[in-house]
Amino acid sequence: MDCGEGTQIKMVQFKVKSRRISHIFITHLHGDHIFGLPGLLNSLSLNGRQEPLKIFGPEGIANYVRFNQKQSSAHFTFDIDFQELKGAGPIDLGTYCGLQFKAFPLKHRIPTFGYKAIEVQAELNVDPEAITKYSLSIEEILNVKKGASIIRGDSFIPTELLVLPPRRNRSFAYCTDTIYDPDILQYIEEVSLLYHEATYTDDLAEKARERMHSTTKDAAQIAKSARAKQLVIGHYSNRYKNLNTLLQEAKVVFQNTMIAEEGKLFQIL
Ligand SMILES: [Zn+2]
Repeated sequence: MDCGEGTQIKMVQFKVKSRRISHIFITHLHGDHIFGLPGLLNSLSLNGRQEPLKIFGPEGIANYVRFNQKQSSAHFTFDIDFQELKGAGPIDLGTYCGLQFKAFPLKHRIPTFGYKAIEVQAELNVDPEAITKYSLSIEEILNVKKGASIIRGDSFIPTELLVLPPRRNRSFAYCTDTIYDPDILQYIEEVSLLYHEATYTDDLAEKARERMHSTTKDAAQIAKSARAKQLVIGHYSNRYKNLNTLLQEAKVVFQNTMIAEEGKLFQIL
């Protein structure tokens, strides 16, 4: 999600394999979110990528990529399928890699979209105790995973007795850049992990409104109102050398807040 100028350097540093990228989600066309994209695409091509790549973003993202490509006489070894977003949310983006993606509008100085990924459970989990109890065969287990009941002669064992309760599907929402906007709550209700920008500390709330960014407390209030499980804040103004101030401010409103730092991994619970 997003592709700032340092993306490739960080990918090398943290050993993220570029081949594993199949979809790119761009929030908006401000430079700090897209300046890394032309370079990344060129590198993918230099590596001989064949698999098509899907890029989502606001209107203009295709033009931006194609203009860069044309002016630098770049020939890509793979196809790019652009999906430009407009209008109100939620916009269904499809299901990829076991995740269902949606987009929704944020309020920033230019058209901006937030994204949400929801884990989809492809198969049911068979209860190990049921396997023993009913001596399920491998074939039966595979059928139960797909939702089948068991019929053996006259006896019928319903699926509910064979599977564990469905897992609560975890979700991740990515909201940057945006002013404090309760309108987004409808899209991110009970999200497992919310990434929300917090460009400024609370004392610069007026500046945040002016620049259409959020403060620490704005981000935390959105997480609280959405009943999110966890909040990660990021996109800080570079005036802040000590990120602890930002973290502590957010925690006053939403205790389960974490701070985004280069290379830090977060587990989605
Ligand atoms: Zn921006």
